[in-house]
Amino acid sequence: MSGPGSGVLPYGRQSIDEDDIEAVVRVLRSDWLTTGPAVRSFEEAFAAAVGARYAVSCSSGTAGLHLAALALGLGPETSVAVPTNTFVATANAARYVGAQVRFTDIDPQAGLMRPGDLERALDRPGLPATAVSPVHFAGQTVDMEAVAEIAERRGLAVIEDACHALGSVYHTQAGEAVPVGSCRHSVMTVFSMHPVKTITMGEGGVVTTNDPALHRKLLQFRSHGIVRQDEGFIAADLALDDAGNANPWYYELSQLGFNYRASDINCALGESQLRKLDRFVARRLALAERYDGLLAPLGPVVRPLRKAAGCRPGLHLYVVLIDFAAIGMSRAELMGRLREQGIGTQVHYIPVHRQPLYRDCGLHLPGSERYYRQCLTLPLHVGMSDEEVDAVVAALRVAAGGS
Ligand SMILES: *Cc1c(COP(=O)(O)O)cnc(C)c1O
Repeated sequence: MSGPGSGVLPYGRQSIDEDDIEAVVRVLRSDWLTTGPAVRSFEEAFAAAVGARYAVSCSSGTAGLHLAALALGLGPETSVAVPTNTFVATANAARYVGAQVRFTDIDPQAGLMRPGDLERALDRPGLPATAVSPVHFAGQTVDMEAVAEIAERRGLAVIEDACHALGSVYHTQAGEAVPVGSCRHSVMTVFSMHPVKTITMGEGGVVTTNDPALHRKLLQFRSHGIVRQDEGFIAADLALDDAGNANPWYYELSQLGFNYRASDINCALGESQLRKLDRFVARRLALAERYDGLLAPLGPVVRPLRKAAGCRPGLHLYVVLIDFAAIGMSRAELMGRLREQGIGTQVHYIPVHRQPLYRDCGLHLPGSERYYRQCLTLPLHVGMSDEEVDAVVAALRVAAGGS
């Protein structure tokens, strides 16, 4: 693993400044380490940043995906459509609530689920699909207007997996700019603040929604399933005194939830990082454009991902597609050679439908096969210098047999 301190330029890593450290230390000196004011403050700032009515923080992006499935009441005898080119958590969230996963293919040039991939997956036999989780892979956006139209026609709820896409903006056919997270074409959007993502909370996630009922459910499932405010307590004998007033100590458990809270420590870091989002997104884009320019002469043997139409991505990953046959070297060999020169790379992702847990579905998804044969993720993070981009491309050019 290329981890912190290994002397290898990793494919992704956090960027922490003194003000982030001070924000965390302030919480450590305060009265509230969890369920305190830093949680509320971060959630309000996050909702405002992405243009959603509500933001619910939680302990990870994975917890956020699980909470979204719980809030929608997804469960057994149903299926959820998930693109196969994603982190396993997108699919696992459906399984956590007992639903089956209906994998969709992807565009082999962009790594993204296309509307047609979704339609084909929905046309396969199987348990009735009740939801779809489009994944904004690498930070580029799925065609959400088209997905929303399919979802509407087929009666699906849309949960966006935007773990790669904080800061991404897409445009509708009518030219409207839509920030990812505003839930313009979905019921909920899920983000991750793991250290490799665009901003970090250490570990953490956020679910955004515009629906007050879903918001209440997300809060309930995040904290054991407990409700504290009287929104119609069920157990009147426990909840109320003889005069019909709510007992001040009472909380009610009527649904099975989890402890998926994010602490004030994590949320303070998240809010401090969020203030830099615009700068982080701009820097990531500038680095990616530098890669694009330097790699152009290596085409078509080494190519960047196809750009999604109408999208200004909050890029999470910089992925290239490599014709390994043409360079006469396997991916493992190339990764080894780059690593010898201090350059960490990674593969995003092994198609989830081929993992042993999911393999029994026996599916053939040709777009994902083609993509998976060629993809390699190069380093991209805010702390990288232009010179480091140049060095990565130079190493790639040499390894790929150029001069
Ligand atoms: C990172 C990630 C997740 C999970 O987020 P965690 O915070 O690590 O739990 C889910 N989906 C995608 C696409 C991701 O990249």
